[in-house]
Amino acid sequence: MIVTRFAPSPTGLLHLGHALAAITAHESGDDFLLRIEDIDKGRSRDTFIEAIFFDLKWLGLSWDEPTLRQSTRMGAYAEALVNLKAHGLVYPCFCTRAEIAQEIARAGEAQHFDQLGPSGPGPEGPLYSGTCRALPPEEGLRRMGAGESYALRLDVAKAAAMTGALTFKEHGHLHPVDPLRFGDIVIARKDMPTSYHLAVVVDDAYQKVSLVTRGEDLLPAAHIQRLLQALLKLPEPAYAHHPLVLDDSGRKFSKRDGAVTLQSLREAGLTPADIRARIGI
Ligand code: GLU
Repeated sequence: MIVTRFAPSPTGLLHLGHALAAITAHESGDDFLLRIEDIDKGRSRDTFIEAIFFDLKWLGLSWDEPTLRQSTRMGAYAEALVNLKAHGLVYPCFCTRAEIAQEIARAGEAQHFDQLGPSGPGPEGPLYSGTCRALPPEEGLRRMGAGESYALRLDVAKAAAMTGALTFKEHGHLHPVDPLRFGDIVIARKDMPTSYHLAVVVDDAYQKVSLVTRGEDLLPAAHIQRLLQALLKLPEPAYAHHPLVLDDSGRKFSKRDGAVTLQSLREAGLTPADIRARIGI
């Protein structure tokens, strides 16, 4: 039995890209689940959650209850974090984004900077050189105790040595995992026991998701997520990333393009069949 999920972040209205992701997941699974990825308290809104329910029903999609809200799952993420810490794979990092960016510019690796996604999912941004990995543990503890802000990073090289070589299955083909490609990713922060990647792997396992379908902009995230699954001894889902819906100028839609929200298209008189035709599904 194939279990799929649609996992929107309620930080805006759904657009055509979400419609493709939701319909693809719905049509790819025997059981289709909905997960609201609302760990970002600052940007998530209940009104957007209501709008997600409304849009999905309007598209004719139904999902198995209960709907999982990540904001109710902090205990499970904290437990996973404890597990990673117990393996000595986590260290506190006190560098600010500006410091990391400066350091990268100095090292002449500015091209990595365009990977920066300030709060979105996927690659965590510029490759972090690991400055704070070298901090003596007692120095880290002292600074944490003194109230400084910090992120918790995964020592990816150590993690990869622990798991050995890994693969993930994408559209039925095995891909080698390249765990080092994003450097020591952030997996939690001072006031947040998780990050996008950690929450996704914990919840995909909890919801028994066996096939992860989502836009191909998240394909790189599979490398990190597969590594976390192996470290946490979680089952391995298969992946099937789909092409993105592009606008007329060939750019991917984003939440900033208000004109293509499902709500505005509905108000302009389009039907669910028109939406399917527009995204070619
Ligand atoms: N919450 C993510 C988003 O809205 C999707 C996460 C995933 O499918 O893994 O883009």
